[in-house]
Amino acid sequence: MMKSRLFSLIILLSIITFFTGCTAKKEQGITMSVSILPQKQWLDILTGKQVHVNCLLPPGSNPATYSPTPKQMKEMNQSVYYFYIDQLGFENVWLPKFKDLNETTMFINTTAGIVRLEGHHHKGSVEEHEESDPHLWVSPKEAKKMVEIMYAMLGYSKLFNQSTLDSNYVILQNDLNKLDSLFKDAALNAQQKTFVIYHPALAYIAHDYGFEQISIEKEGKEPTAAYIKQLIDEVKSKKIKYIFIQKQFDKSNAQVIAEESGAELIEIDPLGYDYMAESEKLANYLKNL
Ligand SMILES: [Zn+2]
Repeated sequence: MMKSRLFSLIILLSIITFFTGCTAKKEQGITMSVSILPQKQWLDILTGKQVHVNCLLPPGSNPATYSPTPKQMKEMNQSVYYFYIDQLGFENVWLPKFKDLNETTMFINTTAGIVRLEGHHHKGSVEEHEESDPHLWVSPKEAKKMVEIMYAMLGYSKLFNQSTLDSNYVILQNDLNKLDSLFKDAALNAQQKTFVIYHPALAYIAHDYGFEQISIEKEGKEPTAAYIKQLIDEVKSKKIKYIFIQKQFDKSNAQVIAEESGAELIEIDPLGYDYMAESEKLANYLKNL
């Protein structure tokens, strides 16, 4: 009798432990934070979606003026890492606050050591002056360096099977190398190298692959009527084909220039989740300039 009771108790205890073990594991699932959706795609590929990714900037919002929600603040607190871009609009305001509030999260600058282009402007950002350009990720050449830092830190965490991580990294590097070739190819094939864009988010593409970016926004401000007139003339005389717009910004000035000059208005999304598809689409447009 005694023996069978003891036996049942052991069984019961092991069942309880088994279940609490499961829930604890589920609740303690790995969370990591990133600033923008392209980083989420990279992290999903690297970890085989084993990580819950807290992406701060939601689709369509402006990085210069964005504030995180209480849920995002909570998930930041649960994060092993926060992979940030460095000096990307809201990060200037929020990164010091995150650092103050989180003792266990490690803050990883994914653009550390990359030489930046200067003279970028963001309208509505807290410090509205000339700054170094944070849009590094748009260029696969720079993205490869950012991804290398993420991969190294994931390995350092010892939370993943290293050989799976290694092979996922190879897959991601191959994807980025493919994009890199597409942009090189685009630069070789394009009849002319100039494009117009509302907010100058593609400076690293222009710099890395040999294109000329003309921005409608002037030093982070709405263009004047005289500048719009000048742009229309330039688009006509250089036979510029495309005017790129991003959903975060007002389209009206770009629309006027497109209508008056005959150029085509193209919406791009450098902050969208599907970095691979977005970059491929962009490379195809640049190829046909
Ligand atoms: Zn910008």
